[in-house]
Amino acid sequence: MASKVAALIAENEILRSEIRVARQAAELTAEMVVKQFEQTEEAQWRFRQANAQRQAVLEAATRLAIIVTDLDGVVQLFNSGAEILLGYKEEQVKGRCRLPDLIAIPELIERSALAGVPFIQKAPGLGIFSHYVAEKQVESVEWTLVRRDGTHLAVTLSISPMKDADGLVVGFLAAAMDVTELKKAKDEARLAIEMMDEAIAHSPIFVWEANAIGQILSCHGVEGVLGYRSDELIGQPYEVLFDPDPADNQEEESAAELWRQRFAGQVAFRDWKARLRHANGQTVWCAMNGKPVYDGRSQFQGYRGVNVDIHALTEAHQRVESLAMHDALTGLANRNRFLERFRLEMDRKSRHQEPMALLLLDIDHFKAVNDTHGHLNGDLCLQGVARIATASIRKIDLAARFGGEEFMILLPETGLETARQIAEKLRSRVELEKMVLLDQTTLLQITISIGVSEMRSDEELSLESLIHQADAALYVAKRSGRNRVRCWPV
Ligand code: GH3
Ligand code: MG
Ligand code: MG
Repeated sequence: MASKVAALIAENEILRSEIRVARQAAELTAEMVVKQFEQTEEAQWRFRQANAQRQAVLEAATRLAIIVTDLDGVVQLFNSGAEILLGYKEEQVKGRCRLPDLIAIPELIERSALAGVPFIQKAPGLGIFSHYVAEKQVESVEWTLVRRDGTHLAVTLSISPMKDADGLVVGFLAAAMDVTELKKAKDEARLAIEMMDEAIAHSPIFVWEANAIGQILSCHGVEGVLGYRSDELIGQPYEVLFDPDPADNQEEESAAELWRQRFAGQVAFRDWKARLRHANGQTVWCAMNGKPVYDGRSQFQGYRGVNVDIHALTEAHQRVESLAMHDALTGLANRNRFLERFRLEMDRKSRHQEPMALLLLDIDHFKAVNDTHGHLNGDLCLQGVARIATASIRKIDLAARFGGEEFMILLPETGLETARQIAEKLRSRVELEKMVLLDQTTLLQITISIGVSEMRSDEELSLESLIHQADAALYVAKRSGRNRVRCWPV
């Protein structure tokens, strides 16, 4: 009995251990199955992902036509980009159409000839692509594709060989990018550049660039302003443009020095008026504008700017200023200029305590001159008196035409007696110098009367008072027979 029980216990023990082993095995198997399942899942997911990505690339590339052909150029794959760009459905071309059929024939013929490839051969029109592939010429070339409706499409086309798993070439892969927009943008940019060139050529400006060490990189339109061809200047230090002016060098910093300082400090400048030198040696005043240029990483690249020839502008400005301040007939100062100068001299007089004198001139019997010889000859006499007056006075004096046939001369730092002597000299010169009339033969003697007034060093009179006194003296000069000088007080 006891042995039977022992045998049962032993059997039970064996069973239990078998069950344990079986359970362990089951657990391990379950674990492996789960792992395998997970791996399969992941692999499938990866595959789906890759496929979706490949599909997405093909589908999303609407501006990119991808066409795969066999060795004869017959289309095997035609992505949606190709469908959109060329207007065919894949089934319309797959297996039916050849790559060269989709390309403008004259272009194919021309480029085949250029590359020395026969156009007509086993696979007509394909030779050029085989040539590109053989030459490993993979970069994009511009081609014209022909759409289903016959219209043309500008693309850049890259051709590469399609290989099988063993590396054998089994066809071609053509990737064509629609460059219509790009071409349009390029055309617009070219047009803008042409317009800019035209504008530069017809205006007194030149556009320049200097590199980081101050050498001229480009000089657009410089020939019209400075007479140099731009290629003569490229590579030269920017300073060669400046006129080396000795006065500048002595008194203040030279323009070249100023340029070097601004360049070193990377300082932008506007309307910097500088003296540049024309190829013919003459000075050209320019308003210079420039600013430093930096690349994407804030590295200093140099300068870019525009220089404007302000010679014409300056001249016009001076002409306008001169017109505003001078009498057109005689070229003498006008009333405005005289008043301006009088104020200046009053200012100086108060500081230096000097006297000042005024001469008031009037041509004698001028009405008769006009009446006898005509208005134009009268003008000639006015010009003659102006010329003699200018020649008879010092640089610091100022002669002006005040109106009609009346002139005024301001004599700073001059007392009454000296003023009288100057007036007398002037009167006598006019009397002695005969006027040559328009007929070039008639010599006419004219005379003038002069009234002189003085503002003593300790006096401060208004211009009106000074004129009033000179006028009173002039009146006396006229009354006492003309052709004479009278001083105030008479
Ligand atoms: P008086 O000796 O008293 O000064 O006699 P006058 O004839 O010179 O004096 P009046 O003031 O009577 O005449 C001035 C003349 O100057 C009259 C006018 O026709 C003339 N006149 C004024 N302006 C001009 C001008 O711009 N050109 C010419 N030709 N004549 C002018
Ligand atoms: Mg008069
Ligand atoms: Mg007169």
